[in-house]
Amino acid sequence: MHRVVDHLEGDYDVAVLGGGFAGATASRRLTRAGLRVLIIEARDRLSGRMWSQQQYFEGHTVEWGGAFMLDRATYPLTWQEIDDHGLALEWGSLEKTTLIWLSGGSRRTGPLPVPIDELASLETLIVAISGLAARIDPNRPIEEQDVSELDVPWPQLLADLQLGPHTRELFEAHIVTLAGDSWDVPSALPLLHSIAKSGSVSGATFFAAPYDTPMARTLGPQLAEGTGALFNAVLAGSDADVVLGVRVTDVEDTGTGVRVRTTAGDITVPAVVSALPIGVLAEVRFTPELSEELKTLAAQGVAAQAEKVTAFVSNCPDPFYAHGIPQEGGFATASTTFHHGDQAIVVGFTSAVGALDVTDPAAVEKALQHYVPGITVDALAWHDWAGDPFARGTWSYLRPGQTAIRPKARQARGRVTFAGSDFDSRLGVEGALHTGGLAAEEVLGILNR
Ligand SMILES: Cc1cc2nc3c(=O)[nH]c(=O)nc-3n(C[C@H](O)[C@H](O)[C@H](O)COP(=O)(O)OP(=O)(O)OC[C@H]3O[C@@H](n4cnc5c(N)ncnc54)[C@H](O)[C@@H]3O)c2cc1C
Repeated sequence: MHRVVDHLEGDYDVAVLGGGFAGATASRRLTRAGLRVLIIEARDRLSGRMWSQQQYFEGHTVEWGGAFMLDRATYPLTWQEIDDHGLALEWGSLEKTTLIWLSGGSRRTGPLPVPIDELASLETLIVAISGLAARIDPNRPIEEQDVSELDVPWPQLLADLQLGPHTRELFEAHIVTLAGDSWDVPSALPLLHSIAKSGSVSGATFFAAPYDTPMARTLGPQLAEGTGALFNAVLAGSDADVVLGVRVTDVEDTGTGVRVRTTAGDITVPAVVSALPIGVLAEVRFTPELSEELKTLAAQGVAAQAEKVTAFVSNCPDPFYAHGIPQEGGFATASTTFHHGDQAIVVGFTSAVGALDVTDPAAVEKALQHYVPGITVDALAWHDWAGDPFARGTWSYLRPGQTAIRPKARQARGRVTFAGSDFDSRLGVEGALHTGGLAAEEVLGILNR
Protein backbone atom coordinates (compact mmCIF):
# COMPACT_ATOMS: atom_id res chain seq x y z
CA MET A 1 0.00 0.00 0.00
CA HIS A 2 1.45 3.37 -0.95
CA ARG A 3 2.02 6.06 1.66
CA VAL A 4 1.81 9.82 1.22
CA VAL A 5 4.78 11.59 2.81
CA ASP A 6 5.32 15.32 3.15
CA HIS A 7 9.06 15.60 2.53
CA LEU A 8 11.79 14.23 0.29
CA GLU A 9 14.05 12.82 2.97
CA GLY A 10 14.43 9.08 3.05
CA ASP A 11 16.55 6.27 1.77
CA TYR A 12 15.19 5.40 -1.64
CA ASP A 13 16.48 3.20 -4.47
CA VAL A 14 14.44 4.89 -7.17
CA ALA A 15 12.68 8.21 -7.68
CA VAL A 16 9.71 8.06 -10.04
CA LEU A 17 9.04 11.49 -11.50
CA GLY A 18 5.32 11.95 -12.14
CA GLY A 19 2.43 10.05 -10.61
CA GLY A 20 0.29 9.27 -13.65
CA PHE A 21 -0.44 5.73 -14.86
CA ALA A 22 3.11 5.26 -16.18
CA GLY A 23 4.69 6.30 -12.87
CA ALA A 24 2.27 4.21 -10.81
CA THR A 25 2.90 1.14 -12.97
CA ALA A 26 6.68 1.53 -12.73
CA SER A 27 6.47 1.99 -8.95
CA ARG A 28 4.36 -1.16 -8.57
CA ARG A 29 6.87 -3.29 -10.48
CA LEU A 30 9.84 -1.82 -8.59
CA THR A 31 8.39 -2.13 -5.10
CA ARG A 32 7.31 -5.70 -5.88
CA ALA A 33 10.98 -6.35 -6.66
CA GLY A 34 11.80 -5.10 -3.16
CA LEU A 35 13.03 -1.61 -4.06
CA ARG A 36 12.24 1.52 -2.05
CA VAL A 37 10.52 3.98 -4.33
CA LEU A 38 9.51 7.61 -4.00
CA ILE A 39 6.98 9.06 -6.48
CA ILE A 40 7.45 12.82 -6.87
CA GLU A 41 4.27 14.45 -8.18
CA ALA A 42 3.87 18.15 -8.98
CA ARG A 43 0.10 18.32 -8.58
CA ASP A 44 -1.74 17.89 -5.32
CA ARG A 45 -3.30 14.73 -6.75
CA LEU A 46 -2.15 11.61 -8.61
CA SER A 47 -3.36 10.03 -11.91
CA GLY A 48 -2.28 12.81 -14.30
CA ARG A 49 -4.23 13.12 -17.52
CA MET A 50 -6.75 10.44 -16.51
CA TRP A 51 -8.63 12.20 -13.79
CA SER A 52 -12.12 11.38 -12.65
CA GLN A 53 -14.11 13.28 -10.09
CA GLN A 54 -17.10 11.58 -8.53
CA GLN A 55 -20.33 13.36 -7.58
CA TYR A 56 -19.44 16.29 -9.83
CA PHE A 57 -22.94 17.20 -11.01
CA GLU A 58 -26.15 15.73 -9.61
CA GLY A 59 -24.29 12.64 -8.45
CA HIS A 60 -22.54 12.01 -11.78
CA THR A 61 -18.83 11.45 -12.25
CA VAL A 62 -16.89 13.64 -14.64
CA GLU A 63 -13.86 12.41 -16.53
CA TRP A 64 -11.75 15.49 -17.16
CA GLY A 65 -9.20 13.64 -19.27
CA GLY A 66 -8.89 10.11 -20.68
CA ALA A 67 -11.87 7.84 -20.17
CA PHE A 68 -12.48 5.36 -23.00
CA MET A 69 -11.03 1.87 -22.84
CA LEU A 70 -10.17 0.75 -26.37
CA ASP A 71 -10.74 -2.84 -27.51
CA ARG A 72 -8.96 -5.84 -26.00
CA ALA A 73 -6.62 -6.31 -28.97
CA THR A 74 -5.40 -2.71 -28.74
CA TYR A 75 -5.41 -2.42 -24.92
CA PRO A 76 -4.33 -5.86 -23.58
CA LEU A 77 -2.57 -4.57 -20.44
CA THR A 78 -5.48 -2.31 -19.54
CA TRP A 79 -7.98 -5.15 -19.94
CA GLN A 80 -5.77 -7.36 -17.80
CA GLU A 81 -6.09 -4.78 -15.00
CA ILE A 82 -9.84 -4.45 -15.56
CA ASP A 83 -10.25 -8.25 -15.38
CA ASP A 84 -7.84 -8.77 -12.47
CA HIS A 85 -9.58 -6.15 -10.36
CA GLY A 86 -13.12 -6.95 -11.47
CA LEU A 87 -13.80 -3.38 -12.58
CA ALA A 88 -17.31 -2.75 -13.94
CA LEU A 89 -17.80 -1.22 -17.39
CA GLU A 90 -20.46 0.93 -19.00
CA TRP A 91 -21.18 0.20 -22.65
CA GLY A 92 -23.31 2.32 -24.92
CA SER A 93 -26.26 0.65 -26.53
CA LEU A 94 -26.25 0.63 -30.31
CA GLU A 95 -29.90 -0.34 -30.60
CA LYS A 96 -31.12 2.71 -28.73
CA THR A 97 -28.63 5.21 -30.10
CA THR A 98 -29.65 7.72 -32.75
CA LEU A 99 -26.85 8.23 -35.23
CA ILE A 100 -26.53 11.82 -36.43
CA TRP A 101 -24.35 12.94 -39.35
CA LEU A 102 -23.49 16.48 -40.29
CA SER A 103 -21.74 17.17 -43.59
CA GLY A 104 -22.12 19.65 -46.40
CA GLY A 105 -24.19 21.70 -43.99
CA SER A 106 -26.94 19.06 -43.86
CA ARG A 107 -27.99 16.93 -40.89
CA ARG A 108 -29.05 13.33 -41.36
CA THR A 109 -29.97 10.55 -38.97
CA GLY A 110 -29.81 6.81 -39.36
CA PRO A 111 -27.26 4.13 -40.10
CA LEU A 112 -25.81 5.61 -43.30
CA PRO A 113 -23.02 8.08 -42.55
CA VAL A 114 -23.19 9.60 -46.04
CA PRO A 115 -26.13 10.35 -48.35
CA ILE A 116 -27.12 7.28 -50.36
CA ASP A 117 -25.66 8.66 -53.58
CA GLU A 118 -22.21 8.67 -51.90
CA LEU A 119 -22.22 5.05 -50.82
CA ALA A 120 -19.93 4.12 -53.71
CA SER A 121 -17.57 6.89 -52.64
CA LEU A 122 -17.53 5.60 -49.07
CA GLU A 123 -16.73 2.15 -50.37
CA THR A 124 -13.89 3.57 -52.48
CA LEU A 125 -12.46 5.15 -49.34
CA ILE A 126 -12.73 1.97 -47.28
CA VAL A 127 -11.15 -0.14 -50.02
CA ALA A 128 -8.31 2.38 -50.38
CA ILE A 129 -7.66 2.44 -46.64
CA SER A 130 -7.69 -1.37 -46.48
CA GLY A 131 -5.17 -1.49 -49.32
CA LEU A 132 -2.85 0.94 -47.56
CA ALA A 133 -3.14 -0.91 -44.23
CA ALA A 134 -2.31 -4.19 -45.98
CA ARG A 135 1.21 -2.86 -46.61
CA ILE A 136 1.86 -3.04 -42.85
CA ASP A 137 2.88 -6.28 -41.15
CA PRO A 138 0.94 -6.21 -37.86
CA ASN A 139 3.33 -8.72 -36.29
CA ARG A 140 6.50 -6.65 -36.67
CA PRO A 141 7.41 -3.41 -34.90
CA ILE A 142 6.19 -0.56 -37.07
CA GLU A 143 9.43 1.41 -36.79
CA GLU A 144 11.34 -1.50 -38.36
CA GLN A 145 9.16 -1.52 -41.48
CA ASP A 146 9.80 0.46 -44.63
CA VAL A 147 6.46 2.25 -44.72
CA SER A 148 7.66 5.85 -44.82
CA GLU A 149 5.30 6.55 -47.76
CA LEU A 150 2.44 6.04 -45.26
CA ASP A 151 3.99 8.34 -42.66
CA VAL A 152 2.33 11.44 -44.14
CA PRO A 153 -0.89 13.30 -43.36
CA TRP A 154 -4.13 11.83 -44.73
CA PRO A 155 -4.94 14.54 -47.32
CA GLN A 156 -1.64 13.73 -49.04
CA LEU A 157 -2.37 10.00 -49.01
CA LEU A 158 -5.89 10.39 -50.36
CA ALA A 159 -5.08 13.14 -52.89
CA ASP A 160 -5.66 10.96 -55.97
CA LEU A 161 -8.88 9.45 -54.70
CA GLN A 162 -12.13 10.77 -56.15
CA LEU A 163 -14.20 11.15 -52.98
CA GLY A 164 -17.58 12.75 -52.60
CA PRO A 165 -17.64 15.84 -50.34
CA HIS A 166 -19.66 14.10 -47.60
CA THR A 167 -17.33 11.09 -47.53
CA ARG A 168 -14.34 13.39 -47.27
CA GLU A 169 -15.89 15.35 -44.41
CA LEU A 170 -16.91 12.19 -42.61
CA PHE A 171 -13.37 10.91 -42.66
CA GLU A 172 -11.91 14.29 -41.78
CA ALA A 173 -14.14 14.44 -38.67
CA HIS A 174 -12.89 10.98 -37.74
CA ILE A 175 -9.23 11.98 -37.97
CA VAL A 176 -9.85 15.24 -36.11
CA THR A 177 -11.44 13.29 -33.25
CA LEU A 178 -8.75 10.63 -33.10
CA ALA A 179 -5.80 12.97 -33.37
CA GLY A 180 -7.20 15.96 -31.53
CA ASP A 181 -5.80 18.11 -34.28
CA SER A 182 -6.56 19.33 -37.78
CA TRP A 183 -6.50 16.38 -40.20
CA ASP A 184 -3.57 17.69 -42.24
CA VAL A 185 -1.24 17.51 -39.19
CA PRO A 186 -1.11 13.92 -37.87
CA SER A 187 0.48 11.03 -39.71
CA ALA A 188 -1.79 8.44 -41.35
CA LEU A 189 0.49 5.69 -40.04
CA PRO A 190 -0.95 5.13 -36.53
CA LEU A 191 -4.49 4.57 -37.78
CA LEU A 192 -3.31 2.37 -40.64
CA HIS A 193 -1.26 0.39 -38.15
CA SER A 194 -4.25 -0.19 -35.88
CA ILE A 195 -6.36 -1.18 -38.89
CA ALA A 196 -3.63 -3.67 -39.87
CA LYS A 197 -3.62 -5.04 -36.29
CA SER A 198 -7.38 -5.27 -35.91
CA GLY A 199 -7.74 -6.76 -39.40
CA SER A 200 -10.57 -4.50 -40.47
CA VAL A 201 -11.19 -0.89 -41.38
CA SER A 202 -14.46 -1.04 -39.52
CA GLY A 203 -12.84 -2.19 -36.30
CA ALA A 204 -10.64 0.88 -36.17
CA THR A 205 -12.81 3.62 -37.61
CA PHE A 206 -16.13 5.16 -36.76
CA PHE A 207 -17.84 3.73 -39.81
CA ALA A 208 -17.79 0.12 -38.73
CA ALA A 209 -19.66 -2.44 -40.82
CA PRO A 210 -22.54 -2.12 -41.19
CA TYR A 211 -21.98 1.47 -40.14
CA ASP A 212 -22.00 0.55 -36.46
CA THR A 213 -20.62 3.77 -35.11
CA PRO A 214 -21.39 4.95 -31.58
CA MET A 215 -18.45 6.13 -29.59
CA ALA A 216 -18.97 3.46 -26.96
CA ARG A 217 -18.50 0.79 -29.62
CA THR A 218 -15.56 2.34 -31.36
CA LEU A 219 -13.59 4.06 -28.63
CA GLY A 220 -14.64 1.41 -26.14
CA PRO A 221 -16.53 1.45 -22.87
CA GLN A 222 -15.95 3.65 -19.83
CA LEU A 223 -15.35 2.42 -16.30
CA ALA A 224 -18.51 2.44 -14.20
CA GLU A 225 -16.64 3.67 -11.13
CA GLY A 226 -14.52 6.11 -13.15
CA THR A 227 -10.88 5.89 -14.22
CA GLY A 228 -9.93 6.59 -10.59
CA ALA A 229 -10.91 2.98 -9.83
CA LEU A 230 -8.42 1.74 -12.41
CA PHE A 231 -5.71 4.03 -11.08
CA ASN A 232 -6.34 2.92 -7.50
CA ALA A 233 -6.20 -0.70 -8.63
CA VAL A 234 -2.75 -0.17 -10.14
CA LEU A 235 -1.46 1.85 -7.21
CA ALA A 236 -2.85 -0.62 -4.67
CA GLY A 237 -0.11 -3.02 -5.73
CA SER A 238 2.63 -0.47 -5.05
CA ASP A 239 4.40 0.15 -1.75
CA ALA A 240 5.89 3.43 -2.92
CA ASP A 241 6.02 6.60 -0.90
CA VAL A 242 4.36 9.54 -2.65
CA VAL A 243 5.11 13.22 -2.22
CA LEU A 244 2.53 15.60 -3.70
CA GLY A 245 2.77 19.25 -4.75
CA VAL A 246 6.50 18.95 -5.50
CA ARG A 247 7.75 19.90 -8.98
CA VAL A 248 10.91 18.41 -10.42
CA THR A 249 13.15 21.04 -12.00
CA ASP A 250 16.55 19.35 -12.58
CA VAL A 251 17.74 15.79 -13.06
CA GLU A 252 21.50 15.27 -12.92
CA ASP A 253 23.10 11.88 -13.49
CA THR A 254 26.45 12.06 -11.66
CA GLY A 255 27.54 8.59 -12.75
CA THR A 256 27.15 7.08 -9.30
CA GLY A 257 23.63 8.35 -8.65
CA VAL A 258 20.99 10.79 -9.84
CA ARG A 259 20.43 14.10 -8.11
CA VAL A 260 16.82 15.25 -8.48
CA ARG A 261 16.23 18.91 -7.77
CA THR A 262 12.70 19.94 -6.88
CA THR A 263 10.71 22.87 -5.54
CA ALA A 264 10.95 21.18 -2.11
CA GLY A 265 14.69 20.45 -2.08
CA ASP A 266 17.04 17.83 -3.53
CA ILE A 267 17.23 14.08 -3.28
CA THR A 268 19.89 11.70 -4.64
CA VAL A 269 18.92 8.18 -5.66
CA PRO A 270 20.61 5.30 -7.49
CA ALA A 271 18.14 5.43 -10.41
CA VAL A 272 15.23 7.43 -11.81
CA VAL A 273 12.12 6.74 -13.85
CA SER A 274 11.03 9.93 -15.60
CA ALA A 275 7.30 9.45 -16.19
CA LEU A 276 6.60 13.03 -17.21
CA PRO A 277 4.59 14.14 -20.27
CA ILE A 278 6.92 14.91 -23.19
CA GLY A 279 5.60 18.46 -23.39
CA VAL A 280 6.89 19.02 -19.85
CA LEU A 281 10.32 17.46 -20.43
CA ALA A 282 11.59 20.55 -22.21
CA GLU A 283 11.02 22.51 -18.99
CA VAL A 284 13.10 20.16 -16.82
CA ARG A 285 16.89 20.49 -17.06
CA PHE A 286 18.60 17.13 -17.67
CA THR A 287 22.35 16.65 -17.21
CA PRO A 288 23.69 15.10 -19.37
CA GLU A 289 21.27 16.48 -21.94
CA LEU A 290 18.45 14.39 -23.35
CA SER A 291 19.17 12.38 -26.51
CA GLU A 292 18.66 14.21 -29.81
CA GLU A 293 15.55 12.09 -30.49
CA LEU A 294 14.04 12.94 -27.13
CA LYS A 295 14.90 16.61 -27.51
CA THR A 296 13.07 16.58 -30.84
CA LEU A 297 9.99 14.93 -29.33
CA ALA A 298 10.04 17.21 -26.30
CA ALA A 299 10.28 20.28 -28.53
CA GLN A 300 7.37 19.05 -30.69
CA GLY A 301 5.38 18.27 -27.55
CA VAL A 302 2.10 16.41 -27.32
CA ALA A 303 0.41 16.71 -30.68
CA ALA A 304 -3.19 16.66 -29.58
CA GLN A 305 -4.55 19.89 -28.17
CA ALA A 306 -8.17 18.73 -28.52
CA GLU A 307 -10.86 20.16 -26.32
CA LYS A 308 -12.93 17.50 -24.62
CA VAL A 309 -16.12 18.88 -23.13
CA THR A 310 -18.54 17.11 -20.82
CA ALA A 311 -22.01 18.66 -20.93
CA PHE A 312 -24.81 17.77 -18.54
CA VAL A 313 -27.90 18.35 -20.69
CA SER A 314 -31.71 18.34 -20.70
CA ASN A 315 -34.24 18.12 -23.53
CA CYS A 316 -32.32 15.26 -25.06
CA PRO A 317 -34.99 12.73 -26.07
CA ASP A 318 -32.66 9.91 -27.19
CA PRO A 319 -29.14 8.70 -26.63
CA PHE A 320 -27.14 9.83 -29.66
CA TYR A 321 -23.84 9.70 -31.42
CA ALA A 322 -23.15 12.70 -33.63
CA HIS A 323 -20.32 13.13 -36.09
CA GLY A 324 -19.36 15.87 -38.52
CA ILE A 325 -17.63 19.15 -39.18
CA PRO A 326 -20.08 21.92 -38.26
CA GLN A 327 -19.50 24.83 -40.65
CA GLU A 328 -19.40 27.43 -37.86
CA GLY A 329 -17.07 25.23 -35.79
CA GLY A 330 -18.26 23.04 -32.97
CA PHE A 331 -18.01 19.36 -32.12
CA ALA A 332 -16.44 16.85 -34.53
CA THR A 333 -18.07 14.18 -32.39
CA ALA A 334 -20.51 14.37 -29.55
CA SER A 335 -22.03 11.38 -27.87
CA THR A 336 -24.22 10.59 -24.90
CA THR A 337 -22.37 8.52 -22.32
CA PHE A 338 -25.37 8.45 -19.98
CA HIS A 339 -29.07 8.94 -20.75
CA HIS A 340 -32.15 8.88 -18.56
CA GLY A 341 -35.54 10.36 -19.47
CA ASP A 342 -34.62 13.48 -21.40
CA GLN A 343 -31.45 14.14 -19.40
CA ALA A 344 -28.02 13.04 -20.50
CA ILE A 345 -24.30 13.44 -20.20
CA VAL A 346 -22.73 14.34 -23.54
CA VAL A 347 -19.02 14.08 -24.24
CA GLY A 348 -17.85 16.16 -27.20
CA PHE A 349 -14.53 16.75 -28.93
CA THR A 350 -14.22 20.07 -30.73
CA SER A 351 -13.62 20.24 -34.47
CA ALA A 352 -10.69 22.64 -34.04
CA VAL A 353 -8.96 24.27 -31.10
CA GLY A 354 -10.65 27.58 -30.40
CA ALA A 355 -13.56 26.79 -32.73
CA LEU A 356 -15.90 27.04 -29.80
CA ASP A 357 -15.84 28.86 -26.46
CA VAL A 358 -15.97 25.70 -24.38
CA THR A 359 -16.38 27.65 -21.16
CA ASP A 360 -19.64 29.26 -22.34
CA PRO A 361 -22.74 27.10 -21.78
CA ALA A 362 -24.70 29.11 -24.38
CA ALA A 363 -22.04 28.54 -27.06
CA VAL A 364 -21.81 24.82 -26.26
CA GLU A 365 -25.62 24.57 -26.30
CA LYS A 366 -25.75 26.18 -29.74
CA ALA A 367 -23.06 23.82 -31.02
CA LEU A 368 -24.95 20.78 -29.71
CA GLN A 369 -28.19 22.08 -31.23
CA HIS A 370 -26.66 21.61 -34.69
CA TYR A 371 -26.94 17.93 -33.88
CA VAL A 372 -29.93 17.80 -31.51
CA PRO A 373 -32.36 20.71 -31.95
CA GLY A 374 -33.76 21.93 -28.64
CA ILE A 375 -31.10 20.35 -26.41
CA THR A 376 -30.16 22.55 -23.43
CA VAL A 377 -27.01 22.64 -21.30
CA ASP A 378 -27.33 22.58 -17.48
CA ALA A 379 -23.64 22.39 -16.57
CA LEU A 380 -20.24 22.02 -18.25
CA ALA A 381 -16.92 20.47 -17.36
CA TRP A 382 -13.75 21.16 -19.29
CA HIS A 383 -10.09 21.23 -18.37
CA ASP A 384 -7.46 23.22 -20.24
CA TRP A 385 -4.93 20.43 -20.75
CA ALA A 386 -2.98 22.40 -23.36
CA GLY A 387 -2.48 25.26 -20.92
CA ASP A 388 -1.88 22.99 -17.92
CA PRO A 389 1.84 23.30 -17.01
CA PHE A 390 1.91 19.65 -15.89
CA ALA A 391 0.40 18.26 -19.09
CA ARG A 392 0.99 20.69 -22.02
CA GLY A 393 -1.44 18.77 -24.19
CA THR A 394 -3.89 15.89 -24.18
CA TRP A 395 -2.90 12.59 -25.74
CA SER A 396 -0.05 11.85 -28.11
CA TYR A 397 -1.01 11.12 -31.65
CA LEU A 398 1.95 10.63 -33.97
CA ARG A 399 2.99 13.27 -36.41
CA PRO A 400 4.98 12.37 -39.56
CA GLY A 401 8.49 11.31 -38.60
CA GLN A 402 7.73 10.55 -34.97
CA THR A 403 7.16 6.80 -35.42
CA ALA A 404 10.80 6.28 -36.31
CA ILE A 405 12.30 8.25 -33.43
CA ARG A 406 10.03 7.30 -30.53
CA PRO A 407 11.69 4.02 -29.50
CA LYS A 408 15.12 5.71 -29.54
CA ALA A 409 13.75 8.71 -27.65
CA ARG A 410 12.59 6.45 -24.81
CA GLN A 411 15.95 4.69 -24.42
CA ALA A 412 17.50 4.93 -20.96
CA ARG A 413 20.37 7.43 -20.52
CA GLY A 414 22.76 6.23 -17.82
CA ARG A 415 20.72 5.87 -14.65
CA VAL A 416 17.68 7.69 -16.00
CA THR A 417 14.88 5.74 -17.70
CA PHE A 418 11.79 7.09 -19.43
CA ALA A 419 8.13 6.12 -19.36
CA GLY A 420 4.84 7.69 -20.40
CA SER A 421 2.14 7.14 -22.98
CA ASP A 422 3.60 9.91 -25.13
CA PHE A 423 6.47 7.58 -26.06
CA ASP A 424 4.25 4.82 -27.26
CA SER A 425 2.28 4.00 -30.37
CA ARG A 426 -0.38 2.44 -28.12
CA LEU A 427 -2.48 5.47 -27.39
CA GLY A 428 -3.46 6.57 -23.93
CA VAL A 429 -3.48 4.51 -20.78
CA GLU A 430 -2.24 1.36 -22.53
CA GLY A 431 0.93 3.18 -23.56
CA ALA A 432 1.41 4.41 -20.00
CA LEU A 433 1.06 0.89 -18.55
CA HIS A 434 3.36 -0.54 -21.22
CA THR A 435 6.17 1.98 -20.90
CA GLY A 436 5.90 2.08 -17.09
CA GLY A 437 6.64 -1.66 -17.12
CA LEU A 438 9.52 -1.25 -19.60
CA ALA A 439 11.19 1.52 -17.60
CA ALA A 440 10.89 -0.50 -14.37
CA GLU A 441 12.62 -3.48 -16.02
CA GLU A 442 15.38 -1.16 -17.24
CA VAL A 443 15.88 0.17 -13.70
CA LEU A 444 16.14 -3.40 -12.39
CA GLY A 445 18.86 -3.97 -14.99
CA ILE A 446 20.70 -0.77 -14.07
CA LEU A 447 20.63 -1.72 -10.36
CA ASN A 448 21.46 -5.39 -11.08
CA ARG A 449 18.32 -6.64 -9.34
C1 LIG B 1 -8.96 15.13 -22.77
C2 LIG B 1 -8.24 13.81 -22.83
C3 LIG B 1 -8.89 12.70 -23.34
C4 LIG B 1 -8.23 11.48 -23.38
N1 LIG B 1 -8.92 10.38 -23.82
C5 LIG B 1 -8.37 9.15 -23.64
C6 LIG B 1 -9.14 7.98 -23.75
O1 LIG B 1 -10.36 8.05 -23.99
N2 LIG B 1 -8.53 6.77 -23.57
C7 LIG B 1 -7.20 6.68 -23.24
O2 LIG B 1 -6.69 5.57 -23.09
N3 LIG B 1 -6.44 7.78 -23.10
C8 LIG B 1 -7.01 9.00 -23.24
N4 LIG B 1 -6.27 10.12 -23.00
C9 LIG B 1 -4.83 9.97 -22.77
C10 LIG B 1 -4.48 9.44 -21.38
O3 LIG B 1 -5.18 10.17 -20.40
C11 LIG B 1 -2.98 9.60 -21.20
O4 LIG B 1 -2.30 9.02 -22.29
C12 LIG B 1 -2.45 8.95 -19.93
O5 LIG B 1 -3.24 9.28 -18.83
C13 LIG B 1 -1.01 9.42 -19.74
O6 LIG B 1 -0.43 8.79 -18.60
P1 LIG B 1 1.10 9.11 -18.27
O7 LIG B 1 1.37 8.49 -16.95
O8 LIG B 1 1.97 8.76 -19.41
O9 LIG B 1 1.17 10.73 -18.17
P2 LIG B 1 0.39 11.69 -17.16
O10 LIG B 1 -0.91 11.13 -16.79
O11 LIG B 1 0.41 13.03 -17.77
O12 LIG B 1 1.31 11.66 -15.87
C14 LIG B 1 2.44 12.51 -15.73
C15 LIG B 1 2.48 13.05 -14.32
O13 LIG B 1 3.62 13.89 -14.19
C16 LIG B 1 3.26 14.98 -13.38
N5 LIG B 1 4.21 16.07 -13.62
C17 LIG B 1 4.26 16.90 -14.70
N6 LIG B 1 5.31 17.73 -14.58
C18 LIG B 1 5.94 17.42 -13.42
C19 LIG B 1 7.09 17.91 -12.79
N7 LIG B 1 7.85 18.89 -13.31
N8 LIG B 1 7.45 17.34 -11.59
C20 LIG B 1 6.71 16.34 -11.03
N9 LIG B 1 5.61 15.83 -11.62
C21 LIG B 1 5.23 16.36 -12.80
C22 LIG B 1 1.86 15.31 -13.81
O14 LIG B 1 1.18 16.09 -12.86
C23 LIG B 1 1.27 13.92 -13.99
O15 LIG B 1 0.64 13.44 -12.82
C24 LIG B 1 -6.90 11.37 -22.94
C25 LIG B 1 -6.25 12.49 -22.41
C26 LIG B 1 -6.91 13.69 -22.33
C27 LIG B 1 -6.21 14.85 -21.69
